[in-house]
Amino acid sequence: MSSFAPPVQRLITELGKLPGIGGRTAQRLAFHLLRASEEDALGLAEAIREVKERIGLCEVCFNLADGPRCRICTDERRDAGLVCVIEEPSDIIPIERTHEYQGRYHVLGGALSPIDGIDPEDIKIAELLTRVANPAPDAVPIREVVLATNPTTTGEATALHIAEQLRERAPSVTVTRLASGLPVGADLEYADELTLGRAMSGRRTLS
Ligand SMILES: [Zn+2]
Repeated sequence: MSSFAPPVQRLITELGKLPGIGGRTAQRLAFHLLRASEEDALGLAEAIREVKERIGLCEVCFNLADGPRCRICTDERRDAGLVCVIEEPSDIIPIERTHEYQGRYHVLGGALSPIDGIDPEDIKIAELLTRVANPAPDAVPIREVVLATNPTTTGEATALHIAEQLRERAPSVTVTRLASGLPVGADLEYADELTLGRAMSGRRTLS
């Protein structure tokens, strides 16, 4: 039985649903918010409401966007002939930090994992194949696809599956994979920028 008033308990419960937040931390954060100024506390609430209302997925690459297309897809300075395939929108951050990549992205929204019931049709693979093999008439032709899924079992399986599909559907397109050196089994976002930058600049062609 909670000894807190129901609204306080509700806040603790909601905070406790966040990744990496245990019960004690949730309690600490809740009390911090209760002590905070109304402006700060409601600022957080409003920020959460705004992203949920305004942010959707880019119609081209499935990155987060506050309109039909994301900032990277609308940036004319970015090389539209080069596409980096990643699992989650958050993977863009570590790659951008390396300053080694000037192309566009394609966000799959996950990785293949038959055990968890995640099959090719559950992530944006068909959309990638269409984008590469049957682009819109006004789109810049794609000459290289960089597979930058995580160096995990599911990430590797996803990269192999996509490479195979691309060989079949778009044989003239170069398919590359990040060079080795990334910590195996870890997500891209945990790689330091020097290692990730080297893996990007040293990417190798899959034959
Ligand atoms: Zn986009």
